Amino acid sequence: MNAIVFDHVSKHYGDVLAVDDLSLAIEPGKTVALLGPNGAGKSTSINLLLGLLKPTAGTVAVHGRTPDEAVRAGQMGAMLQNGALIPELSVKELIDLVRRLYPNPLALDEILKLADLTDLAGRRANKLSGGQSQRVRFALAIAGAPRILLLDEPTAAMDVESRLRFWASMHDYASGGRTVLFATHYLEEADEHSDRVIVIARGRLAADGTAAEIKAGAGGHTVSFALGDQPAAGLDRLPGVTAVEVAAGVATLHTSDTDATLAALYRGTSLDVRELKLSSADLEAAFLALTRES
Ligand code: ADP
Ligand code: MG
Repeated sequence: MNAIVFDHVSKHYGDVLAVDDLSLAIEPGKTVALLGPNGAGKSTSINLLLGLLKPTAGTVAVHGRTPDEAVRAGQMGAMLQNGALIPELSVKELIDLVRRLYPNPLALDEILKLADLTDLAGRRANKLSGGQSQRVRFALAIAGAPRILLLDEPTAAMDVESRLRFWASMHDYASGGRTVLFATHYLEEADEHSDRVIVIARGRLAADGTAAEIKAGAGGHTVSFALGDQPAAGLDRLPGVTAVEVAAGVATLHTSDTDATLAALYRGTSLDVRELKLSSADLEAAFLALTRES
């Protein structure tokens, strides 16, 4: 059974359509990135999964149950975009308070270790840096040993060092066969830290696959050459070509099959091809292409 299922889910806020007929299924044990620009519907999707919002249409299921049932059973942990800590409590007290609310929580020491907080256990919550507070919020999210961990832009406000430590903690937690879904608008994070990337734009599914598949599927390569004043007509019909740009006498062909495009360029046209350059688009280019189209 899938850990997470969205079946034709839409969510309106008044006139705003934040999630638009979204269908997807996530297997247990996977770490999945929900990648999209600001306003794409990431937080709305996560709040739907937690039962904090109800879909306008469609259904959301968590291990075959409703989000409310899954939350009640202690199966869900979440780190939301806005969540305050209780300032007067120490890190240890706060975590212990939250873990006791769950039926089968992790041991306090284990949580502190996983969240890299052992040295900060006695520190008051109001004396923590931004990155340290995020680690406490991560600790609270995993306290109940949830099967499904939802992280909404967890590394916002973290410096590079904190990010590295945070992702190491996330991978430790995920390695126990747990399902992790994290929202991000950082391409590198999605690329480096997930088994699968779900790209959403304007509430719709724009792409779904491994980072490598998404790069390939979005016409991930370019072939460019000096066109001079030769005509560009017909370049867009070469095999593999998904788009053509001509600027300052340089033609850039976006292609899903560099070999086929090159062969046709040399054998199938009478163009004088000079200053040939090949490049592999990175995930960023693929992401931009995908979110622009949809
Ligand atoms: P993301 O997390 O990807 O940045 P959100 O899910 O927060 O996106 O928002 C999706 C869309 O819904 C945006 O257009 C946003 O402005 C709108 N939206 C979010 N929350 C509300 C709300 N409470 N009321 C009205 N519109 C909202
Ligand atoms: Mg958000």
